[in-house]
Amino acid sequence: MLKKDEILRNLEEIVGKDFASNKLEDLFIYSQDPGASEPRPVDFIVMPKTTEEVQEIMKLANKETIPLVPMGGGLTLSGLIIPVKGGIVVDMKRMDKIIEINELSQYALIEAGVTTGQLLFYLNENYPKLQPPIPDAPPSATIAGNVLIHGSGYLSQKYGDHGAMINGLEVVLPNGDICKLGSCAVSKYWFARGPIPDLIGLFISSFGTMGIITKLSIQLFNKTRFREVVFGLLKDLKDIPNVLLRLTETGLAEDILLGMQDKPDWMKGYIFVIAYVTGESQEEIDSHIKVFKRIYRKSKARYMKTPERIKNAYLEKPIFAAAAADYRKGGGFEYVGANMPLEQIPEAYRRGVEIAKKYGIVPTLGSRLIGGTHNIVMFFSYSFNRADPKDLENARNALHETNKLALELGGIPWKAELVGQQLILEKMDPNYKKLFNAIRSTIDPKGIMNPGNWEV
Ligand SMILES: Cc1cc2nc3c(=O)[nH]c(=O)nc-3n(C[C@H](O)[C@H](O)[C@H](O)COP(=O)(O)OP(=O)(O)OC[C@H]3O[C@@H](n4cnc5c(N)ncnc54)[C@H](O)[C@@H]3O)c2cc1C
Repeated sequence: MLKKDEILRNLEEIVGKDFASNKLEDLFIYSQDPGASEPRPVDFIVMPKTTEEVQEIMKLANKETIPLVPMGGGLTLSGLIIPVKGGIVVDMKRMDKIIEINELSQYALIEAGVTTGQLLFYLNENYPKLQPPIPDAPPSATIAGNVLIHGSGYLSQKYGDHGAMINGLEVVLPNGDICKLGSCAVSKYWFARGPIPDLIGLFISSFGTMGIITKLSIQLFNKTRFREVVFGLLKDLKDIPNVLLRLTETGLAEDILLGMQDKPDWMKGYIFVIAYVTGESQEEIDSHIKVFKRIYRKSKARYMKTPERIKNAYLEKPIFAAAAADYRKGGGFEYVGANMPLEQIPEAYRRGVEIAKKYGIVPTLGSRLIGGTHNIVMFFSYSFNRADPKDLENARNALHETNKLALELGGIPWKAELVGQQLILEKMDPNYKKLFNAIRSTIDPKGIMNPGNWEV
């Protein structure tokens, strides 16, 4: 067993002196995230630049049985990159090369540290006809971190969640093997996920427990010339499923969101339907808007003519949705995301409001359609004062109760924090757990990859 200073020396030899540390002042920021999780101690932080460096770090950690936690932007809010059992946080941000943009097969081959803001900006500058699937998270979130948690964004109503848009991965396994998954395992093109056994899924929503992704290929999409947002207002929760079904069956919407919040005041008392239409000309857009207005009218929704200022905020990519939400002194904010079936959305909103009020938090709820009405991601947001332990505890209780609610209604908490993962595991088919454990212990027999997460 190596001593701490020997481990540090080994890490420095791999990545260089400037990119490995165990100084308290460097570790501090990695021991927490912007959400409501308790801070937890970190032993080392390392920032590799190449796949080979990741491989060397992995071999060292495996030999010495040191936990490894891969980290992108660290923005899930649910503490997924705060080590549970100490060890090394592998911060991927220096692996930030955009390796290839394939305009014909429409994919980007990138390193795992490329941020959503970086890829968006690069495409806007160099390939203005193409757009990447990105979340409404701050632009320092990485593409890898987002696709690896089944993220979603402004293209998801039309094309599905971002995990489904992965064409290929290069991963470093816990034994140090570098492994290619997807078409790139066979071909020089990273253009498709199959047709070979699909092992990419193992790396999605497993929260860094299977290995470290060093490269990935993500699908890109054509950008239309015009994009417009059309707001509808509903008064009654039970009208939600019908209006969403009517909107999606037109096939005209690129993105559909719902919002319900008591602040700012103008939003109180309504459910906002926020639908995006796209087209190649203003006439095309206008005709789509007409269709949506008709649907709103027939579905007991009111079309809302929106002030330019608000409209423009909603046309931003990413939408800075949090700008409209309630803030508390101290700036804390976390939400339960939960994937829900459409039939349970009205009940989920009703009970979500009850939970927020019970804990004295301004109700702030939203949702996004994933692949039509196949799947709805809901957001139950809770703000808190980070400097007030009681307020933090209050938010944690609200989050916990909401996780339970999602499961009770037949949904599944998304990017769940440790406690939420345990609630999911309690409900999970025992043979699913058995299979997952068998795969995990084969790939990672010493349990070095983000241990504590998904622990059966
Ligand atoms: C204001 C706000 C709005 C948001 N809106 C959205 C939204 O609209 N849609 C959405 O999907 N999300 C949203 N999020 C959630 C989250 O921020 C994003 O999904 C974000 O993209 C996660 O990326 P990240 O780089 O921060 O991932 P991280 O938090 O760094 O990592 C996420 C998980 O992936 C693992 N991981 C990261 N990199 C690797 C790697 N290279 N190899 C193996 N495992 C790895 C980590 O261990 C962790 O388990 C929002 C967050 C905030 C704060």
